[in-house]
Amino acid sequence: MSDRRSVAPNDLEAFWMPFTANRQFKKAPRMFASAKDMYYTTTDGREVLDGTAGLWCVNAGHCRPKITEAIREQAGELDYAPAFQLGHPKAFELANRLAALAPEGMNHVFYTNSGSESVDTALKIALAYHRVKGEGSRFRLIGRERGYHGINFGGTSVGGIVSNRKMFGTLLTGVDHMPHTHLPEKNAFTRGQPEHGGDLADELERIVTLHDASTVAAVIVEPLAGSTGVLVPPKGYLQRLRDICTKHGILLIFDEVITGYGRLGAPFAADFFGVTPDIMTTAKGLTNGVIPMGAVFVKDEIHDAFMNGPEHMIEFMHGYTYSGNPIASAAALATLDTYEEEGLLTRAGELAPYFEEQLHSLKDCPHVIDIRNMGLVGAIELEPIAGEPTKRAFNAFLKAYEDGLLIRTTGDIIALSPPLIISREEIDILFDKLRKVLMNNI
Ligand code: PMP
Repeated sequence: MSDRRSVAPNDLEAFWMPFTANRQFKKAPRMFASAKDMYYTTTDGREVLDGTAGLWCVNAGHCRPKITEAIREQAGELDYAPAFQLGHPKAFELANRLAALAPEGMNHVFYTNSGSESVDTALKIALAYHRVKGEGSRFRLIGRERGYHGINFGGTSVGGIVSNRKMFGTLLTGVDHMPHTHLPEKNAFTRGQPEHGGDLADELERIVTLHDASTVAAVIVEPLAGSTGVLVPPKGYLQRLRDICTKHGILLIFDEVITGYGRLGAPFAADFFGVTPDIMTTAKGLTNGVIPMGAVFVKDEIHDAFMNGPEHMIEFMHGYTYSGNPIASAAALATLDTYEEEGLLTRAGELAPYFEEQLHSLKDCPHVIDIRNMGLVGAIELEPIAGEPTKRAFNAFLKAYEDGLLIRTTGDIIALSPPLIISREEIDILFDKLRKVLMNNI
């Protein structure tokens, strides 16, 4: 068959890249050829220290032999099995391992293929749960300004990042957004949880009163907001949300797609902050980012409500061709082994004080207006350039990449979330490189 379009194999036209201005990328493409542990190697042979664990997902570092081997073996043994009315042992084994890892009383998981699918699954579980219980009037969903919950219809609707929504209009109706908790005038340069802003949770009470609790199904928040530029929850905030939800019979969903699997120094942010949601969404670190997979955890009462519910609702009418895929399950089991053998689910906590010290030492670099951190997550907020809101941080990203460091930027904010295997020496290298970038006229 002749090619309908005559192109060289490395032509950059056909791949419409996600969250990327292809026009700009084509002028100076950045490509990785391989990776090992803390480093990527580019196609032109340069080493780049991974300061972001890929996209907040490669928690155990790159190309870990145990995970690679598990994938290879599984692909040769059972490549695919449907999960509708059928199964395979590894999906069940993984669910049991995850239930044992989860906060107390969250002993059931529903598999997806991504964070976005986990979020939409969680929202649908919440809506269906109320119907199973005979409370179908609860249809409203509440998110938060600056929240990121992936890019499917539900997640985009409850999400609160304006630039991610404005191309698409209203999406779901019946959605409200609480205010975000970013209070730079009061909390700038706080180390760990900010003192101010816990009372912003009371806005939830106001929204619930406005609509009447009997119409509200669920509230979804990232316990620590990542993609919007690392917003650490103020002291008392999450507990207050928990109390308001409990009081009104509203389900609280924690989107732990970033915070799950050790990012803050505990298996989940729910453990770290000591606040247990009703539903928890995860993905990314579940398979070390290597194979697409997500898992939604639900409290026993939610699962039991379906199991004991009306006969016509016994089957949850939701699922994916690849739910519990054998290769993904094998990758996740090997990932959990790696996390547990190497103590990675708590390692962020051990490294956090050192990471925090190094991060905050950037305070005096030009244009730095705030620094925030928790576990192995950090953010440096830069003063915007008038009329060019995203230029300065993006310049820093380009310069860092040239200098062998991968950082992530969102608007004027630089975010860091290195693999949890990072050493103190590598933390030093990371911040030396970043300091050089920030001092270099960005
Ligand atoms: N929720 C949160 C909190 C996330 O950070 C992300 C991804 N950054 C998602 C959902 C979406 O995950 P995915 O890209 O795997 O769909």
